[in-house]
Amino acid sequence: MTRSEELAHNLAQIKESIAAAASSAGRSGDSVRLMAVSKTHPWEEILALSGAGQLLFGENRVQEGEAKLAPKGQRPMRVNLIGHLQSNKVGKALSLFDRIDSVDSLRLATRIDRLSAERYPILLELNTSGEAAKHGFESEDELFSALEQIVLLPNIRVEGLMTLGPLGGSEGAIRSSFGHLRCVFERAQERFDLPAFTELSMGMSGDFPLAIAEGSTCVRIGTALFGKRGQ
Ligand SMILES: *Cc1c(COP(=O)(O)O)cnc(C)c1O
Repeated sequence: MTRSEELAHNLAQIKESIAAAASSAGRSGDSVRLMAVSKTHPWEEILALSGAGQLLFGENRVQEGEAKLAPKGQRPMRVNLIGHLQSNKVGKALSLFDRIDSVDSLRLATRIDRLSAERYPILLELNTSGEAAKHGFESEDELFSALEQIVLLPNIRVEGLMTLGPLGGSEGAIRSSFGHLRCVFERAQERFDLPAFTELSMGMSGDFPLAIAEGSTCVRIGTALFGKRGQ
């Protein structure tokens, strides 16, 4: 198998697993989107996957994206930023990525609002595992008090929430982390006037079936698609 064939094969397998997980959760397969997390992998592999029909990608770092991606508007696929964004890189991030899925402070949202000329789509990241090394708003209260201000920003469109499950956690811990994000998502829908608030981004290679059972609309898959990073 060539590398392109291998990637297409992995893609087909993951789509099957997603469909199976959706079906056992009583959901339709097309209610869950697949994001291919291409960090550390070269542009050629992104292109190979897009040739196989994968049109949504995720990258962690502005610098890496800048070095390898074709510019926004000149590439067939969408690429979202899913890693922590520093304020001084917001301008570059806006010109490079189709959405920023990892907004974790009011300060960052305000900066995006200032530098964007039109409503720019974002997700808010919540730390649902309590792990100190993780980014994201620390609690629902913190996220909601930021949202009260963010909904007033004219150049921001909040499209949903994102989280990372506890790494190496038990199945119960992972499910409760994802279940918590879903509850926060539903309470935010009730409490705020957010017309485009539909995305619940949760689940990675090791835990995506649990995330789908808990209502994920977007699973972010790296290792299961590309193989181990750094090998
Ligand atoms: C790397 C990464 C992923 C993908 O992780 P895998 O375990 O390789 O599938 C998903 N989400 C975020 C935020 C990541 O940084």
